[in-house]
Amino acid sequence: MTSAPKFCIQCGSRLVAVREEGRTRRRCPRCGWTFYGNPVPAAVALVTRGGRLLLTRRARPPYAATWDLPGGFLEAGEHPEACLRRELREELGMRARQARFVDFALDRYGPKGFPLLTLVYRVMPGPGRLRPGDDVSEARWFRRRAIPYREIAFPGLRRLLRRWVSGR
Ligand SMILES: [Zn+2]
Repeated sequence: MTSAPKFCIQCGSRLVAVREEGRTRRRCPRCGWTFYGNPVPAAVALVTRGGRLLLTRRARPPYAATWDLPGGFLEAGEHPEACLRRELREELGMRARQARFVDFALDRYGPKGFPLLTLVYRVMPGPGRLRPGDDVSEARWFRRRAIPYREIAFPGLRRLLRRWVSGR
């Protein structure tokens, strides 16, 4: 999973590296199309119940088998909160009662993956049992003092969780 394409998506020519505004970008020498590597938006949830935080174990790469916050990628035209509610329904069979924006996290989708802009929401879950879907191999409630930070692979999310738990 590489983060930058080698060929122009408009005309198929091989892209060349250019320096611009202090960054290296890839540009098509033929038609001028530029790959900016803009981050892809995602929405994830801090779901708590009785003082415990819900983590989900990733069933798929990248970072398969590590713990993560439930959530996923925004579809075109989808509001982040609607995305979050859809993902919680698909991944966990959960209905979110209330969702409130908390913070952003910056990550990559895997060590050399594309950049991510993750919107983090605090979510109050509705009643009912969790039914983990295909993307999740396990869902577990953790006491705040027992959150397995070292088994959370996304560095930005890990930092955000530490901040959130310590109340900063
Ligand atoms: Zn081109």
